[in-house]
Amino acid sequence: MKAVIVGAGLAGCAAAWALEQHGYDCTLIEASDKAGGRMKCTTIGGHNVDVGFHVLHTAYPSLQRWLDLEALDLKPMDAATDLISPSTGNIQTIGDPLRAPSTLIPTVFSAGIWNALRMLRWRLRTRKSDLEAAMDRPSLPLDTYFDAMRFSKAFQTSFLQPLFAGITLDQNRMERSAFASFTFSAMSHGSMTMPKQGIEAVPNQILQNLKSTEIKYNATVSSVSSNAVLLESGKSIKADIVVLATPQNVTQNLLGATDTPRRKETATYVFACKDPPLKRARLLLNTEYGEGNHKILHVHVPTLLHGSDSHLVVATVIGEDSRLHEHKSEQKKIRTELINWFGNDAKDWYFIGTTYVDYALPSGGTTATGRERQPLIQDGIYCIGDHTMHPSVQGTLRSVERLLEHLEIPIPMKG
Ligand SMILES: Cc1cc2nc3c(=O)[nH]c(=O)nc-3n(C[C@H](O)[C@H](O)[C@H](O)COP(=O)(O)OP(=O)(O)OC[C@H]3O[C@@H](n4cnc5c(N)ncnc54)[C@H](O)[C@@H]3O)c2cc1C
Repeated sequence: MKAVIVGAGLAGCAAAWALEQHGYDCTLIEASDKAGGRMKCTTIGGHNVDVGFHVLHTAYPSLQRWLDLEALDLKPMDAATDLISPSTGNIQTIGDPLRAPSTLIPTVFSAGIWNALRMLRWRLRTRKSDLEAAMDRPSLPLDTYFDAMRFSKAFQTSFLQPLFAGITLDQNRMERSAFASFTFSAMSHGSMTMPKQGIEAVPNQILQNLKSTEIKYNATVSSVSSNAVLLESGKSIKADIVVLATPQNVTQNLLGATDTPRRKETATYVFACKDPPLKRARLLLNTEYGEGNHKILHVHVPTLLHGSDSHLVVATVIGEDSRLHEHKSEQKKIRTELINWFGNDAKDWYFIGTTYVDYALPSGGTTATGRERQPLIQDGIYCIGDHTMHPSVQGTLRSVERLLEHLEIPIPMKG
């Protein structure tokens, strides 16, 4: 049986691995010059940098099934988030006291007792055994859910809204509450980690398992049917099954949809420095994000995790602002904001460059119910990838597992 898989992101690589192990003759077609898709690193100023702020949640159950986590040399971020109010310079902490008891007092102090208790109630509703459980029930739009949970408006604007703007890469947080509950469950029952070699080490590990799959790089598919794909070069490749593992916008286009999904874009501005402005591997979230001219949503220092003599300070921007990342004037504004956050030390940080992703996450309905957002088979073509389930690594790997369940193929044997 011949299988053509379009897109060598995490979903495409995982599907190719399972199919080839089951005896399929696989061709994996990738538009860019490397595999990994959105789980990507780039080299800027001699540093290996993740494209966008990206963590691997160890609580995702699919990771254990597909990956050798030990080989990734994962280091966890702290189970707490620091919050900065740039106008006052005030920094507070919201943590998970069940995992990091020392954050109890700072959390109650920062959130207030009622919000802290509501967070605890939300936390106690999460189930380690089934992180996606909330998706089986009807959902609310995210902000409506925060109201329904009776979080105070101040707590929503200073913490929940920026946090979930970052998670959904959407200033307006147009997501369903079940997705928030899923990510909150993942944060509650595992760690947010980063691999030593950067986030692309995750798809690379799966890619390295491929033995017989033919991989065509720099080959863009321009049309698909249930038994053939056509490349932009004019070449056609026939197959018994066609698996579309492209991102939402490309999949919709290839399947002939007339509407284009909303862009969820993000940029990072990366600076090198000797003395990091943060002492812990935490996210520093802007409580005033959404007010005035604030552009930076959060800052982190990834080099604190794996030990390094010099450090990188990474400032994340989302939405339309991120499109301006290459403009000198925009880079200047980011530097000015960082000086406001961290003082004159930030004047001396060496700016090494930016990263940018246009369609970083798929968009979907704000009230959808169910773990699956798109049918597996559309026009006779198998569709996988995060947009078919939910926008996460867990959703991506589950989409591959759904394909395998349909074809009655086991998840490949590791090692
Ligand atoms: C900045 C950022 C941060 C994120 N953070 C997190 C996080 O913290 N936690 C989490 O769980 N998830 C996170 N995600 C989401 C996660 O990365 C994705 O869900 C996952 O990588 C999707 O994998 P995929 O294989 O479905 O799609 P992709 O990775 O997009 O792979 C699709 C592949 O198809 C190729 N392609 C596109 N068009 C064509 C064509 N016409 N012909 C051939 N090939 C084509 C692309 O080049 C790409 O390689 C983040 C994503 C981004 C961008």
